[in-house]
Amino acid sequence: MAKVLLIEDEKKLLASLKKGLEQDGYVVTGAATGEDGYYAATTQDFDAVVLDLMLPGRDGLQVLRDLRWHGFSQPVLILTARDSVEDRVAGLDGGADDYLVKPFAFAELLARLRALLRRDTGGRELLLRVGDLEMDLIARRVVRDGEEIDLSHREFELLAYFLRHVDAVVTRDMLARDVRQEPMGVLTNVIDVYVGLLRKKVERPGLRPLIHTVRGVGYVVRDSP
Ligand code: CA
Repeated sequence: MAKVLLIEDEKKLLASLKKGLEQDGYVVTGAATGEDGYYAATTQDFDAVVLDLMLPGRDGLQVLRDLRWHGFSQPVLILTARDSVEDRVAGLDGGADDYLVKPFAFAELLARLRALLRRDTGGRELLLRVGDLEMDLIARRVVRDGEEIDLSHREFELLAYFLRHVDAVVTRDMLARDVRQEPMGVLTNVIDVYVGLLRKKVERPGLRPLIHTVRGVGYVVRDSP
């Protein structure tokens, strides 16, 4: 039985969709806010997520981005009342697999969900690489030159960010905002400390340096001297 997380703030709709999906054989967990949905998705196992975009607080698009950012790889079907091209593009760009425009026929939701569950998750980047370093976002495993590297949660997130921006300059402000999720102006030496810790674990004598300092700006990760 496939497990579905349903994130929808309209109580009546949530109840009727939940009931309908359960009648079709799904095991359904409902969440009425973005926060609750995000929490459920990151603490329990689901085969698919049905996500309303218009949510109070953390909206659906943000929930989607946060989930993808943290390596959530299951299919996500977004529900949108706003039938604008921009909205759909933003949803798909944010990591949605499919969308339905409200109001929709329940049979169509079932059909889309079935299609998503049949589809392989292949193609989404679950492995990040630079040079001889490989990062498995699902197993949360980092290997360099055949040797496993043990990273803290924060170091792992930092390295994943660098590997999503290979060959691009990553500024301290970007790291403060996107990795530490703190407002601009966090002490940049805090960032440097974290990068220093990460470097100690990732860089080894005899191997090519991967994390390069761009003086006065930040860092660039690349596989070159
Ligand atoms: Ca809504």
